[in-house]
Amino acid sequence: MTPRFSPTPVPSVPLDLGAVRAQFPILETRVHGRPLAYLDNAASTQQPRQVIHAVSDYHQQYHANIHRGTYQLSRNATRMHDYAREVVAHFLHAAEPAECIFTRGTTEGINLVAASWGRANLAPGDEIILSALEHHSNIVPWQWAAEAAGARIRVIPVDEAGELQIDEYRRLLSPRTRLVAVNHVSNALGTINPIREIIDEAHAVGALALIDGAQWVAHGATDVQALDADFYVFSGHKLYGPTGIGVLYGKRSLLEAMPPYQGGGDMIEQVTFERTTYAQLPNKFEAGTPHIAGAVGLAAAIEWLQGIGFEHIVAHEQRLLQHATQRLCELPGLEIKGRARHKSALVSWILVDPPIGTLDIGMQLDLCGICIRTGHHCCQPLMDRMGIASTARASFGVYNDLDEIDRLAEAVAAIIAGAQSHPARTQDAPRPLAEGSRGAPVNADHYPLASAASPAAAAEEIAELFGLLPDWPMRHQQIMDLGERLPRMPDALKTEANFVPGCQSRVYMAARVRPDSNGVIEFLADSDAKIVRGLIALLQQLYSGQDAQAILAFDAPAFFTRLGLDEHLSMTRRNGLLAMVERIRRIAAQHGG
Ligand code: PLP
Repeated sequence: MTPRFSPTPVPSVPLDLGAVRAQFPILETRVHGRPLAYLDNAASTQQPRQVIHAVSDYHQQYHANIHRGTYQLSRNATRMHDYAREVVAHFLHAAEPAECIFTRGTTEGINLVAASWGRANLAPGDEIILSALEHHSNIVPWQWAAEAAGARIRVIPVDEAGELQIDEYRRLLSPRTRLVAVNHVSNALGTINPIREIIDEAHAVGALALIDGAQWVAHGATDVQALDADFYVFSGHKLYGPTGIGVLYGKRSLLEAMPPYQGGGDMIEQVTFERTTYAQLPNKFEAGTPHIAGAVGLAAAIEWLQGIGFEHIVAHEQRLLQHATQRLCELPGLEIKGRARHKSALVSWILVDPPIGTLDIGMQLDLCGICIRTGHHCCQPLMDRMGIASTARASFGVYNDLDEIDRLAEAVAAIIAGAQSHPARTQDAPRPLAEGSRGAPVNADHYPLASAASPAAAAEEIAELFGLLPDWPMRHQQIMDLGERLPRMPDALKTEANFVPGCQSRVYMAARVRPDSNGVIEFLADSDAKIVRGLIALLQQLYSGQDAQAILAFDAPAFFTRLGLDEHLSMTRRNGLLAMVERIRRIAAQHGG
């Protein structure tokens, strides 16, 4: 089908990496005194000047609400928004711009389809097929849709290499299958899925296919018509564009048949109190004032990317992938997760010998100015399938270079060497025993005594010590050292009841009222991440052996801010810390608070 708009001609010039890097002001920054090596592109890419300027120019010269204004400024803003949609349609090779709905991102695109298409089309007994590689945003909305309709979720399994088992997929397909939703590229392992085949097989049984393109669109050309995708979703912030903007592509016939997702301004044709009729595509699915600046920025990002050319991007990123795989494979005790034959520029790994928690890897690399991602990557079912809780992941963009990968490999090598030369520093090595218990295994009777007269007094002591440490790297080291000295919790206490949910690493806490005391709370806790063990040591110093009322009176969040933890711990980790505090406070409240 011929597009109904004229695509902008895009020049393609050879990749000049220095010139590419020079377009990203953020790459000139330093982190903890080291040059930034940004290797977390699967989470979010950085933005080139072209995007930053496009958004800033829009705000400075063109901003007005779109569609409704009678004045020139509004008409111009409307034109810019419409143009952005044309750029997106050209980029995806959609048949027409109206098939491209602006959303907040991939997550909203999937939620839109699951809610709208799901409501209109799913019935009891229907089946939706997902894959074991999916991000939570391509699982949870389908669980809701299935639950509401009485439908069932089936899952394509993944093999040891991280590839989808297509034979199993074929077996799952049946006339009951209504929709198949899979990612184009796995954000956790980098697997590039054979989506053309997956879509064809879905169509063969009369099902639709939704493709989560979050991890693909910045790394290879996309042609939704050639793929015959029914829905295709992606986010601007993984494509060198702004956050808060993304796209849902859908075939016109499907979008037209779907009920609106949200009600409000701009999505209507006529409203009376009795009845509402809806606007044409794409407005029907864009209720309310859209993220105009985001659309402008997204278009600028796409044009910037097209200016480089995917042929150059693919070649460069595959070289980065090859180099990173080779350098990391050379490191003893490092195990790469995800060995698919077709991979995007992303390497996930764990350190098994000596075992070093991914959280600790990430925090130590941060001190070297290297940004990677650690955790379950919003793929908990996949982590469960692999029998691990998390991986460390380096993901590359077009501006990364081989030197950054060498720095990463050297820094990981240093972490391994550090753990090897100090066996006590490795997470599962035998711990020194608690004071007063040397020579005997730590057991449930070795709950720590109070470190000061009250939590407030303990806090003063800790703050005083931290005040002597001039910067975060030294404070971080102090916390790690505390973690190293924390006695291991007896395995018998690592029960489900003592598991603390909400922490990124595995955390157990056994808290109790000291026998024969008048409401004195004491606890043991443990984690598979050394940094968390350090935080547990701080909590023990603050709380263990203290009176329940004094515990409840202590303002822990304010104290954490005073130590600088707010600034340097990720939100997940802060929430994990607060979950531990909450557990202690709950016990204190139950017993004498
Ligand atoms: N799907 C995949 C494969 C992803 O990698 C991500 C983000 O990491 C998402 C969906 C969610 O994207 P967003 O948070 O931009 O909505």
